[in-house]
Amino acid sequence: MASFICTRCGKCCISLGRHIRIERSLSPVQHYVRNAISNDVTLVTIHPDRRALFSGTPDPGWCPFLRRDAGGVFVCTIHENRPAVCRDFRCRTMVITGKEGTEVGHVTGTASLTTEDPVLKALWTDLKRRMPGSGPAWFREMQRELSNHGYALDILS
Ligand code: SF4
Repeated sequence: MASFICTRCGKCCISLGRHIRIERSLSPVQHYVRNAISNDVTLVTIHPDRRALFSGTPDPGWCPFLRRDAGGVFVCTIHENRPAVCRDFRCRTMVITGKEGTEVGHVTGTASLTTEDPVLKALWTDLKRRMPGSGPAWFREMQRELSNHGYALDILS
């Protein structure tokens, strides 16, 4: 099975999934889905390879299209035609604030930065080059380096 949202925890879909509802089913594999955040309705089709998985009972409170496969991996059974809100969602692991305390960037995964701040962007690229890695020691060092330049790095759980 090739497509899923996250190989690690599935937290994004578990939280986002509270806003995803099946509005009406055309068949066991075709459903109109309402996303309660934007109120958009999308017609989705369960991927042929994931129909058996989808036919199982979803966990209460999860997105109705989220399942765990036999290996424990979280699987979106409509990944290819999932709603726009899911496509736009990016799992944030860290947030960076500037001197005024407002958010100036965020990190997805272990080290992928999104920011409009060119100084932060250049600093982050340089730090990543000089200090590759991850983990608590890396995080503390990044925090210290960023703090020296007026930025605060916080981890999101
Ligand atoms: S539709 Fe798919 S991507 Fe969206 S919340 Fe459900 S499982 Fe996650």
